[in-house]
Amino acid sequence: MNILLLGSGGREHALAWKLTQSPLCTRLYAAPGNPGVAQHATCVSLDSADHAAVIAFCEGQSIGLVVVGPEAPLVDGLADTLRGAGIAVFGPSRGAARLEGSKGFTKDLCERAGIPTARYVRVTCESEGLGALDSFGAPVVIKADGLAAGKGVTVAMTMAEAQEAVREIFSGRFGQAGAEAVIEEFLEGEEASFFALTDGSTIVPFGSAQDHKRVGEGDTGPNTGGMGAYSPAPVLTPELEGEAMTRIIAPTVKAMTDEGCPYSGVLYAGLMLTRSGPKLIEYNCRFGDPECQVLMMRLGSDLVELLLACAQNRLGSVQPPRFSDATALTVVMAANGYPDTPEKGGRIDGIPSAETDGAKVFHAGTALGPDGVLRASGGRVLNVTGSGATVREAQERAYAAVDRISFPTGFCRRDIGWREVAREGG
Ligand code: ATP
Repeated sequence: MNILLLGSGGREHALAWKLTQSPLCTRLYAAPGNPGVAQHATCVSLDSADHAAVIAFCEGQSIGLVVVGPEAPLVDGLADTLRGAGIAVFGPSRGAARLEGSKGFTKDLCERAGIPTARYVRVTCESEGLGALDSFGAPVVIKADGLAAGKGVTVAMTMAEAQEAVREIFSGRFGQAGAEAVIEEFLEGEEASFFALTDGSTIVPFGSAQDHKRVGEGDTGPNTGGMGAYSPAPVLTPELEGEAMTRIIAPTVKAMTDEGCPYSGVLYAGLMLTRSGPKLIEYNCRFGDPECQVLMMRLGSDLVELLLACAQNRLGSVQPPRFSDATALTVVMAANGYPDTPEKGGRIDGIPSAETDGAKVFHAGTALGPDGVLRASGGRVLNVTGSGATVREAQERAYAAVDRISFPTGFCRRDIGWREVAREGG
């Protein structure tokens, strides 16, 4: 079968790597892809916002499955258009992608379905927002309702910060995404990510991970798209995973079906492990980046079989996903200046040597120049991924690979996995 993969990050490189390991994959196309994806796929220039062009491409190349990497095309309804044209697609409809596209929608759904999450109010203007803060006190969390590339959330430790965050949202800075806001109770605990695949009726767990959002070591400095991750997250014990499935994921999938928007695709739950059990912080309607890279590193099953079964509403008819017991850990190498002003054009060498000991280097923001030299073209540039029996071992292997890469205008955190390494006693 011919497959089309949409996206251009490290997540898509990891998906391309895994999709092409399947005997079901005849030919993989990617739009736009990147030099890493291009090792596995034919990269084409296709605007995922141009639905008619995507359909024409799928028909022209006999595409049997479209895999959508990022959230924006899903929130924009690309999956609906493709399904309407009879093309199988992995990813939720526009209505179902509201679980990521509207925080207010998700909070209301949680309330109706009794899903554990932070207490909240939805507000639609500055004065309403400022008034609502009083009923929470500090610390408190203020979120723009829509997609704001991770920048629409403020965890305010003081009331002054909280008021500033409310004013900022209603200043118009986030456009339509900030037309509404959610103000919610601050939850204390450790965060973990939990993934499930579903076709709207069958749900199967798809692993756990922990990421590192802050740019600096010790989880300091500004937020980023993610500086590293590891999987599984031992803090999410089998008991807690079971609780997350029965109290959070399953009722969400059922509630979406009851709403008339059955959810199909990967459901990525950001959880806070509180003293009273896991609570939902947020949903994403696609794989995380860089969490996908560590999940793919551990996945033993045929990815095409699973994603196609989701897309064709027959997930119950295939073997549930199998993952290796090993830990996978990925370190993001970013361009100097990231996240604010990443320096573009820096030369990268040494990837083949980094991969000699079983490590895998996924490309994110890279570009191959006409001179054949690989250069940085974005903020997060490479995801250097190692595996091991423990987090410590996976960490050592990932950093040994990092040290074989020459990227003078880049940097990485040297402490990815630190919490778990400390718990392992090392
Ligand atoms: P992402 O960066 O994953 O795109 P987002 O912008 O969709 O995130 P959230 O995941 O809802 O926003 O929040 C971002 C971060 O803020 C969370 O990872 C968590 O660290 C913190 N956070 C969000 N809600 C709460 C809460 N109720 N209590 C404590 N911390 C929270």
